Amino acid sequence: MAPVLAPGLYIVATPIGNLGDITLRAIATLRACDGVACEDTRVTGRLMKHLGLSKPLWRYDDHASLRDRERLVESMRTRAVALVSDAGTPLISDPGYQLAAAARAQGAAVTTVPGPCAAIAGLTLSGLPSDRFLFAGFLPAKDKARADTLAGLAGIDATLVFYETAPRLAKALAAIDRALPYREVAVAREVTKLFEECRRGLPAGLIAWYEAHPPKGEIVLMVGPPTDHGHEEVDTDALLRAALAEAKPSQAAAAVARATGLDRRALYARALQLK
Ligand code: SAM
Repeated sequence: MAPVLAPGLYIVATPIGNLGDITLRAIATLRACDGVACEDTRVTGRLMKHLGLSKPLWRYDDHASLRDRERLVESMRTRAVALVSDAGTPLISDPGYQLAAAARAQGAAVTTVPGPCAAIAGLTLSGLPSDRFLFAGFLPAKDKARADTLAGLAGIDATLVFYETAPRLAKALAAIDRALPYREVAVAREVTKLFEECRRGLPAGLIAWYEAHPPKGEIVLMVGPPTDHGHEEVDTDALLRAALAEAKPSQAAAAVARATGLDRRALYARALQLK
């Protein structure tokens, strides 16, 4: 018999592609809860079926009416309600913030059952500094708003992590190239899935790559921190290789020298070796 869960809200992370990534505690919570609030009952229904579980599924997102949210919170007085999103961690560019806030305000217990999150998985794959990062969700879709957002984040001394979609990647990279042309960028695609890949380089090099190889699937887009200090952390070979993809050694060395403050002649000599 499944152990009984205390009433309240359980925020449960689910896989971002590879079903093997579900945690033991997530399975135990979904098995023992009284019902699951989810973005899409078909998507969560498939996960529950895969786990051999059957529970009431309640459609919920942060656009739900106040009345529906209140009803769900009310039920947490006597029931254990699991909250899942279609994939990954609820509340992280996914519904749940309003529900958790309402639950807390009504004195319901709120518990997290952590697990997969595309932002963290992408960061670990990126090769970019992971000691300080800023997760900024999706970049705006409109050109001016996107440019303004990047300008506002440009001075932050941390790796910037964005969610992105394949059809919008080219525009996002072009905006980064305009705002931060010498910052290292990483594109982590289809993380944990069959065609997982991560490409890293200067924005101009990645633009050229994805023009030739149109991307598919889900994407975490990351921008490395400003490099005016901590030069020893910078992978200059990676920067030079990315710059050499579309420029002569002298131009590549000049670009990387501007980006890093390192000696241009030394970079030129290294660029000739790499070419
Ligand atoms: N809450 C989720 C999480 O914690 O991972 C993210 C939900 S958000 C609506 C969906 C976005 O997450 C996608 O557009 C993509 O940017 C990113 N994403 C989700 N799964 C991914 C994967 N397997 N590989 C790369 N990015 C992924």
